[in-house]
Amino acid sequence: MTTQVEATSPALTDWIPAKQFIGGEWRDGRSEKVLTDTNPFDGSQLLTMQQASREDLDDAYAAAAEAQKEWAAKTPNERRAVIARAAEILDERRDEIIAWLNAESGSTMLKANIEVASAASITREAATFPHRVSGKIMESDTPNKELRVYRAPLGVVGVISPWNFPLHLSQRSVAPALALGNAVVLKPASDTPVTGALIIAKVFEEAGLPAGVLNAVVGAGSEIGDAFVEHPVPRMISFTGSTPVGKNIGALAATGATLKYTALELGGNSPFVVLADADVDQAVRAAAMGKFLHQGQICMAVNRIIVEDAVYDEFVEKFTAHVKTLNSGDPTDPKNIVGPIINANQLQGLQTKIETAKSEGARLVLEGEVNGQVLTPTVFADVTKDMELAREEIFGPIAGIMRAKDAEDALALANDTDLGLSSAVFTSNLEQGVSFARRIKAGMTHVNDFPVQDEAHIAFGGEKNSGLGRFNGEWAIDEFTTDHTISIQHAPRDYPF
Ligand code: NAD
Repeated sequence: MTTQVEATSPALTDWIPAKQFIGGEWRDGRSEKVLTDTNPFDGSQLLTMQQASREDLDDAYAAAAEAQKEWAAKTPNERRAVIARAAEILDERRDEIIAWLNAESGSTMLKANIEVASAASITREAATFPHRVSGKIMESDTPNKELRVYRAPLGVVGVISPWNFPLHLSQRSVAPALALGNAVVLKPASDTPVTGALIIAKVFEEAGLPAGVLNAVVGAGSEIGDAFVEHPVPRMISFTGSTPVGKNIGALAATGATLKYTALELGGNSPFVVLADADVDQAVRAAAMGKFLHQGQICMAVNRIIVEDAVYDEFVEKFTAHVKTLNSGDPTDPKNIVGPIINANQLQGLQTKIETAKSEGARLVLEGEVNGQVLTPTVFADVTKDMELAREEIFGPIAGIMRAKDAEDALALANDTDLGLSSAVFTSNLEQGVSFARRIKAGMTHVNDFPVQDEAHIAFGGEKNSGLGRFNGEWAIDEFTTDHTISIQHAPRDYPF
């Protein structure tokens, strides 16, 4: 079968082949299955492509294993130059990439700009990694022994990414892994093959990365999902996605042909706490930003707005009034804040959540409308801790506001979840904010800001069922390398037998 490409605008196709990228070649997948890439806003077909088969996956991992040795042997400066060039290309191709993010992932202009900037930023950060890897020399308790710990690449890393921030969430694993001398096989989500993988493959190809060091396989989870994780070649699986799938991947990585490291960046249920002494107007704007950026489809998105009793009514009134001013619709129109939901299934799930919230007795203060695949903002007040809106990750433009009796009650509510990715607390007493923040069980807590924050040099990751491991900066250097302890006995030892 041939690969047929139909795009809504020439800018979308000129640059990106709708093919697999394996061993440095763009080639058709050999699965029987065809993937149709659809624009979630207008339903138009962006492209169709032949999916990757098990054989394609084997080829990709074999190419990676082969290419990794020479890549790891390059000088730090040679690796730095390729990664740094990739960052420049992301900047140069910014408009094309934004067009793809609009078209394929329903990203508004605001979100698409944030995403390209974030991807370029982690790429620039990764370009510093080759010169930041260091080992250790330590003293030994054994006379005449020297201890050295060398840091080495892991080998081949398998990267699996979600559809919500596809470019950035792929790149934040791919660029550090490559910079540190690993080879990568990247598998994007089916809704975002171009922004989650093919653009990245193209950028690194143009940047001069040797053939086979990065491979992109676009395939059905049912066909290559388990095999991708269980495969004997990769030493690590870096997964970003939902908690149920991530737990399954962790289990497969332990029981597959070889034991593997896993980095698991999973779901969130971020509390956004407003204490009685907070600047309510500022908290309202931060909560709206954290809730409605990318239609709420962000792991760190505000999931539970927890407001202390003394300012609760004021907050609900001001928040609802502010949310009513947000425009929804075509993501290419810069005035729109809320674009389309990624696919019909997700939209259906959100509509069911709204009905469940109503039936559970949450007070509907702003009802959203469905226009095509756009769901305009919905706000519920008086959400209680047993309701689905509080218990589950919402992943859509539905806000739930909860009343807390006092600060201790707010803390208990904030921690009443099995997830612990991001969180936020608003207060005019910064030190009170820090001590409150430190009592929240989460990987990240932001005092007087919204919880959707990711800077390329600062630890990013979750506690509890939100995952294992940390991205960015020195934490990524640890994640994507391993330690090799070497001892040298400089003079003969006296053994007891
Ligand atoms: P998902 O778990 O459904 O899918 C994620 C990826 O896993 C996709 O590429 C999918 O194709 C793949 N996949 C699914 N089943 C698989 C299997 N059996 N084997 C191998 N791969 C498989 O998640 P999603 O719906 O794409 O993304 C939304 C979720 O991701 C939300 O829960 C969100 O919180 C989470 N997320 C977390 C972070 C983070 O940094 N912690 C960032 C973004 C999104």
